[in-house]
Amino acid sequence: MAKKVLKFGGTSVGSIERIKHIANIIKNENSQNNQIIVVVSAMAGKTNELIGYSNSISDNFDKRELDVLVTSGEQVTSSLLSGALIELGVKAKSWMNWQIPILTEGEHGNSRILNMNIEEINNFISSGGVAVIPGFQGISKTGEITSIGRGGSDATAVIVAKIFNTDSCDIYTDVDGIYSSDPNKIPVAKKIDKISYDEMLELSSLGAKVMQSSAVQAAMIYDIPINVKSTFSNRKGTKIFSQENIDYSKSVTGVAYSKDDAKITLIGVLDKPGVAADIFEPLGKNQINIDMVIQNISSDGKKTDITFTLKRVDLKKALKIIKENKKIKFIDIHNNDKVSKISIVGAGMVTTPGVTYKMFRALAEDNINILAISTSEIKLSVIINEIDTLKAIKKLHTTFDLD
Ligand code: ADP
Ligand code: ASP
Ligand code: MG
Repeated sequence: MAKKVLKFGGTSVGSIERIKHIANIIKNENSQNNQIIVVVSAMAGKTNELIGYSNSISDNFDKRELDVLVTSGEQVTSSLLSGALIELGVKAKSWMNWQIPILTEGEHGNSRILNMNIEEINNFISSGGVAVIPGFQGISKTGEITSIGRGGSDATAVIVAKIFNTDSCDIYTDVDGIYSSDPNKIPVAKKIDKISYDEMLELSSLGAKVMQSSAVQAAMIYDIPINVKSTFSNRKGTKIFSQENIDYSKSVTGVAYSKDDAKITLIGVLDKPGVAADIFEPLGKNQINIDMVIQNISSDGKKTDITFTLKRVDLKKALKIIKENKKIKFIDIHNNDKVSKISIVGAGMVTTPGVTYKMFRALAEDNINILAISTSEIKLSVIINEIDTLKAIKKLHTTFDLD
C-alpha cells in the first residue's frame, strides 16, 4: 500500500472520453489498496478561453475577478472526474480550494501555496476514498480566490505530495516523459529516463513547459522525486530526482527554447558609473524582469551601447519607461521582438570542456546569427532571430548527439 499523488494535465482531461479513461487509471491504482489524491488541471484550452473572455471586456481586467474566472476550469474537471469515478463504483469526492482550504500568499495570478488542511482528506483516503483536488487554485488569508501561475497544477501536485507526505508524485501528461527537446517540434528527440532537479529546473525555466518551473523548484527544495509519464501509454516515464543518483555520460541533456523574448539596444549611453543602475532600476520597480545584458567596451571612453533582453509582453512598457526616464541620455534606441532564446542544458557541461565553442560553431555553420549570450554552470543560452528557431534546435540536437 502506498500513498500517491496523481496529477492529470489539460490534455489528459481534455474531453469526457479522456476523463472516463483516467477514471479507469485511478480506479486501478485505488483497487491495489493505494491511498490516492488526484490533482487536476482544467480541460486543455479552457484557461486560455477564459482569459480571452476577460480580454474582450477589458485590456486591464481586474486581477481579483480574473482569478475567480480562470480558476473555474479546474472546478469543472474536479467535479466531472469525481462523478466519473463514482459512476465506476469508486468512492470519490472533490474539494474546492476554499473548502480544503489551500492557503496561498502573494499577488493575484502569481500566488504561492503556503499550506493546506490535511485532516479531512486524510480521513477520506484512509477509508478507501479517492480525493480529487483542483490544481492551480488557492485562497488567500483574506479569503480571496487566487491562482498560482500558468501551468500551476504541477506545483499544486508537488506541494500536495509534500504536505500530505505521500510516497510518490506522478505527473500524467500527453507525452511519455521528458525528452531532449519538445517531441512535438523535434520528432527525433529522445526520451530521458532520469534527470536531475537542477537540469529540469533550467529546462523548464528556459521554455520546456512539460513541467512548470516553480513545481520543479518546490520538488528540489523539498526533495520530492517526480515521475512524468503518459496518460495514453504504459511506457516508462521520466524520473526527476536529486543529482547524486544520475550518471552523466553526455555533456548536454536537452535543448529548450522560448519565443516570448524581446531585445532592446540603447546606442550611445554615457560610459560612467551608475548609468546601468539608472536604466534598470525603474524597470525593476515596474516588475519588468531583465534577462541578458551586454555592454560593449567603449571605444572612445565616453559612450557605449547597452543591449538587454526581456519578456516580449513587457517590451512596450519598458520602451515607454526608458523614453520617459530623465536620468539617462542616449543617441538612439532599437528594439526587436522577433527573437527567440535557445538553450542547451546539461549537468555534464561542468566537466566537459569545449561545449561553448561547439555550440557557437554549430550555429555559425547554419548561418544563424547570435544576438546575445548568457551562461551558467549547467546551461548556455543564446538569443537568435525567431525565424531560425527550429533550424537551431535541430542543429544543436545533432551536434550534441541527442537525436
Ligand atoms: P499538461 O497539460 O499535461 O500539463 P503541458 O502541455 O503543460 O501538459 O506539457 C506537455 C507538453 O510539453 C508536451 O505536449 C510537449 O509539447 C511540451 N514539451 C516541451 N518541451 C518538452 C520536453 N523537453 N519534453 C517533453 N515535452 C515537452
Ligand atoms: N489550467 C491552468 C493553466 O492552463 C493550470 C494548469 O493547467 O496547470 O495554466
Ligand atoms: Mg502543464
